[in-house]
Amino acid sequence: MRIAIAGAGLAGLSTAWLLDPLHHTVLFEPQERLGGHSHTVTAEVDGHETPIDLGAQHISPTAFPALANLLDAVGLTQDLIPVPLSTTLQVHDAATGRPEVLLAGPHTADPGWPRTPVLGAAAGSLTALVTRAAEWETRDVSWERSLDELIEPLEVPRDHKDRLLYPLLASFVGCDIAEAREMSARAAMAFVLRVPPASPDTAPLWHNLKNGLGSLTTALAADLHHGEIHPGRGVDHVRRGRDGLDIIDTRGHHHHVDRLVLAIPPGEAARLLEPLAGTSAVCAALGTFDYVDVTVTAHTDPTYLPADRRHWSTNTITVHNGWSETTTWYGPINGAQAFKSWTTHRPQPPREPLADATFRQLRLTPAAIRARDVVGQAQGDGGVHFAGHYLQDIDSQESALLSAIATTQRIAPDSPRLTDMLTRAPHASDPPEKG
Ligand SMILES: Cc1cc2nc3c(=O)[nH]c(=O)nc-3n(C[C@H](O)[C@H](O)[C@H](O)COP(=O)(O)OP(=O)(O)OC[C@H]3O[C@@H](n4cnc5c(N)ncnc54)[C@H](O)[C@@H]3O)c2cc1C
Repeated sequence: MRIAIAGAGLAGLSTAWLLDPLHHTVLFEPQERLGGHSHTVTAEVDGHETPIDLGAQHISPTAFPALANLLDAVGLTQDLIPVPLSTTLQVHDAATGRPEVLLAGPHTADPGWPRTPVLGAAAGSLTALVTRAAEWETRDVSWERSLDELIEPLEVPRDHKDRLLYPLLASFVGCDIAEAREMSARAAMAFVLRVPPASPDTAPLWHNLKNGLGSLTTALAADLHHGEIHPGRGVDHVRRGRDGLDIIDTRGHHHHVDRLVLAIPPGEAARLLEPLAGTSAVCAALGTFDYVDVTVTAHTDPTYLPADRRHWSTNTITVHNGWSETTTWYGPINGAQAFKSWTTHRPQPPREPLADATFRQLRLTPAAIRARDVVGQAQGDGGVHFAGHYLQDIDSQESALLSAIATTQRIAPDSPRLTDMLTRAPHASDPPEKG
């Protein structure tokens, strides 16, 4: 079969990789670079070439088992580095204009860095939220329940709900703090619950790839034997042809294919499908997914971290003017004095920028959870399939890959790479431990 794939994010690239070498794939990507929301830049920091993930960064071999198998299959398991993902949350005081550290969670002990957690009542409120969310997980409460239904009944101070709990969860998707209330509660809490800390005095242990997630993009693209990749060429429009589909790319070239996989944002998928008869229901469902525009900047300016270095964490969330934005410090990751900050709404840009990028982050609402069923029912209609992070579970590298696996199961259940992925022992080679 000849299969067109629109979108070279993880969903599109891994679909092409899974279908190879059984089928001939043609991958279209409007940007000159591959990877989509996985975007690694390399910058010189203190004389060292330092990879920085502007987009997706944190992964977990335990919480993301399919991704762990893919890393194993392409030989990247040994590149996993453990990252203690500690969190500081500071709030800008409107009166003084100065930040107050409300919470600095535990961080794995480090003899060279006299770090001091700031816990107190705010930590108690966070524990109350995590405990209630874990109960919802155990009871398998509907994903259509909103975050305010989870947070409002908690017996914690109003101030902690408004200045700590909603801002913490808003920071994960870059939305404003008021919009966070409408997110799916199960989706909003998943990143907190799935990688719990090993003990109360340590941070949750996530992982990064030593050379950035871009190394997975490169490995997948290099391992296509019967696939063509066309960077700089998106899918412009689609027509139903005799015995298949006609794809017209943004350079005006026509491609006749048997199947089309749309591994692109849902709004763009709706734009391509709207002219085709019989697609109104799926297009309406695709239009339900809500995205937030964010800018992320790599830099070497510690301005967004607390004045007292003992309260620094791997992630520092700053609450200001109705927004909460994260800075990731690379010190605990690879020793670099480099930072990655969400800078969309910051009053001041960082002084020493290295690179920046814009993305659209998914804010998963109950309406979007319902829309998934409609998209699922339309899978394969007229030879068109959907893949992407928005189709299942939470917005993550794992869900993008799981969507690619589900699409390949429909198109080519006998694909050898699919069989290998599904039968590969979990964590076939274990990632290195810390230290
Ligand atoms: C800033 C940020 C941080 C994140 N951090 C994490 C994290 O730490 N851990 C984690 O697991 N997840 C994280 N995520 C989520 C994760 O990155 C995504 O879920 C996943 O990478 C999305 O993959 P995808 O292939 O579904 O979509 P995308 O990566 O968005 O790829 C879609 C591709 O389609 C292309 N496209 C658009 N229109 C067309 C067209 N007409 N024709 C052809 N191609 C088209 C786009 O250019 C893009 O390359 C983060 C996301 C963002 C934005």
